[in-house]
Amino acid sequence: PLLREHFLDERPDVMAMAARLNANENPYGPPESAKKAVAEAVAGGNRYSWKELAMLVDKIAKKEGVTDKHIMMGPGSSDLLEKVALVLFMNGGNIISADPTYMSLIRVAEAVGATWKAIPCKSDWSHDLAAMEAAIDKDTKMIYVCNPNNPVGSITDGKALLDFCSRVSEKVPVFIDEAYLELAEGTGTESMVSLLAKKKNVIIARTFSKIMGMAGLRVGYAVAQPEFLDKIQKITRGGMGISHTSVLGAIASFEDTEFQAMTKKQNTACKEYLYENLTKMGYKYIPSYTNFVIFPINHMSGKDFLAKMTAKGILVRSFDIQNKPWCRVSMGTMDEMKQFVKALGELS
Ligand code: PLP
Repeated sequence: PLLREHFLDERPDVMAMAARLNANENPYGPPESAKKAVAEAVAGGNRYSWKELAMLVDKIAKKEGVTDKHIMMGPGSSDLLEKVALVLFMNGGNIISADPTYMSLIRVAEAVGATWKAIPCKSDWSHDLAAMEAAIDKDTKMIYVCNPNNPVGSITDGKALLDFCSRVSEKVPVFIDEAYLELAEGTGTESMVSLLAKKKNVIIARTFSKIMGMAGLRVGYAVAQPEFLDKIQKITRGGMGISHTSVLGAIASFEDTEFQAMTKKQNTACKEYLYENLTKMGYKYIPSYTNFVIFPINHMSGKDFLAKMTAKGILVRSFDIQNKPWCRVSMGTMDEMKQFVKALGELS
């Protein structure tokens, strides 16, 4: 694999940090509407939340243009990534993905016996779709595409990806992780959900953790063909892991399009501020379609960088990619971004 993460020997005290820019969270969430809904929902916590969950599913289905049978809910999309990996790979097989990419589904697949076919990203850090297609063999059980991709923040052109998914899903299911898609701006940022109406065997994962500001309240969903979801849910149920409070919070956040638009606007403003300052300091970043930006570190190891930034109260992530150290910084508030820029400028 081309990706290796650095960790400090001692875990930092997260709560004591001036800026938590390490987990691609939404610094503004949860929206006020969701806080109120969660508080009011507490009293109903003695009951299972089936009815309310069905309401949430209906709203999602309507927005995505599919039926409720096309939706599987989970406490965060991680849950869905992991469940799909467990069910699909419990008898082995191989999974194809880009490298670097988000490793959650792949790690679980490997843990239950799958092999990983890692296909290096292209020079612009997009997926090498032709190489991924060429890697399919008789043991391939799934292709995982993270678009926009974490930790690189890059986009793979939506039109090319639609074409790829449409063709390749005739051979193997294609899982498209769209955790950051709502934050992406510009051309080529199409969702793959439209392929479901064309009966394609694609699975799209979405989350309430990013644009909707609910990372700690844990709600996500997958959109896929009902037959595919039946296969997963025969073994492991989706919505049972979501609390009543989170369901009600999710309904409120989902409908709070004003909050989502504000998040997107602030996210873009923070990225522009960061880009300008990185450029001034001589850092070359990868243009990001997400709420994080990654750039190569100069003159020190990834672990030293992490230690120095942590000592300044700034939490970020550090990876080696192709044996070179990189920093991945999530967009916080503008004030937090200023603290990050200041801290970075102070490093020798
Ligand atoms: N997919 C990607 C690409 C992510 O970066 C993350 C989290 O950062 C997730 C999925 C999982 O998010 P959650 O479980 O909060 O929905």
